[in-house]
Amino acid sequence: MIIVMKTGASEQQVQDVVTRIEAAGLRAHVSVGEQTTVIGAIGDEQKLAVLPLERYEGVAKVMPVVKPYRLASREFRPDNSVVEVGTARIGDGWSLIAGPCAVESREQVLAAAESAKAAGACLLRGGAFKPRTSPYDFQGHGEDGLKLLKEASEQTGLPTVTEVRSVTQVELVARYADMFQIGARNMQNFDLLREVGRSGRPVLLKRGIAAKVNDLLMAAEYILSEGNNKVVLCERGIRTFEDQTRFTLDVSAVPVIRALSHLPIIIDPSHAAGNARYVPALARAAAAVGADGVMIEIHPDPQEALCDGNQALLPENLIGLAEEMKAIHEIVCGNVLSPGD
Ligand code: PEP
Ligand code: MN
Repeated sequence: MIIVMKTGASEQQVQDVVTRIEAAGLRAHVSVGEQTTVIGAIGDEQKLAVLPLERYEGVAKVMPVVKPYRLASREFRPDNSVVEVGTARIGDGWSLIAGPCAVESREQVLAAAESAKAAGACLLRGGAFKPRTSPYDFQGHGEDGLKLLKEASEQTGLPTVTEVRSVTQVELVARYADMFQIGARNMQNFDLLREVGRSGRPVLLKRGIAAKVNDLLMAAEYILSEGNNKVVLCERGIRTFEDQTRFTLDVSAVPVIRALSHLPIIIDPSHAAGNARYVPALARAAAAVGADGVMIEIHPDPQEALCDGNQALLPENLIGLAEEMKAIHEIVCGNVLSPGD
């Protein structure tokens, strides 16, 4: 940690900070410049992180050197991580995840699953516990929905990802699905993050609508710190002043996260766009910006959808788009993707 003192800070103020650093078990290295004095704290930075050093008289700025998300950081693991979900390997080439927003009926989920498979998806999505803004909207079919999702998985051979909304649902969802989805609204539900961490199951962690990249990586750290390193990050759009789209897709998050973390990062263009007309362009952008894949909502009959029908692609439109995304990914990434590319 580097502590920059204010111009004109007294020797006593510098000494007070040095004493505190040493009391925490670290060494202090003081360099006195013409204008300012800088103190380097050498040792376990975590011990200092909890101290309010900026409250000390004469301190201008405190700058951590080590990232607070240690396990998620690229320094911890220089190579990209690959997360296995059944037969799927996310982070190893291009991954397409597709399926309906919500599991609505046997016919609907089976049709969507077959379409996802035909388009080359490696994972089937479908919600049984839906996080809805209004308590009066369709909330998902719960366990019945999970059973149908499992049936679709058995029929197609595709592993599944589905949202778990609370700690009490973790065990139930684990009985039916291969990967947990933590929704945007739950990104900082720390108890839930710890619980899916303890489960050891792969987790798809979506970025909160008002969360910084740093917040997302700290949320991932909760899961990793429980000994579960099977975490895939998902950029799904953030809230801005723009309302032509449902959210604003932050494509820059991909290269930024790539530089900061070893975890795979995918894009969800469906929730960002909120409108099927814009989904293909954002999906192509996901491949172009170097994401590891996309998660796209499809519905055999969007006009009749109980949830997010506006943004669902028709299955027949997914096939061509899937080929385009793969081709773009090949051009941009080839077979190797190094940090900072
Ligand atoms: C979803 O994937 O269906 C969903 C509700 O996503 P988000 O949490 O990103 O809004
Ligand atoms: Mn949805």
